[in-house]
Amino acid sequence: MVNYKCGICKKTIDLNVESIGLQCPYCGSKIFYKERPPIAKRVKAR
Ligand SMILES: [Zn+2]
Repeated sequence: MVNYKCGICKKTIDLNVESIGLQCPYCGSKIFYKERPPIAKRVKAR
């Protein structure tokens, strides 16, 4: 499952592309970013 974030209202949307297509149910935007799972990278300072 892929979460998308609306490019306009910044809401995270669980998109079902096959049924509704890429359109924000809140603002009708068609601009989306793929939401990445938050991976905390730790950088060790030497
Ligand atoms: Zn939106």
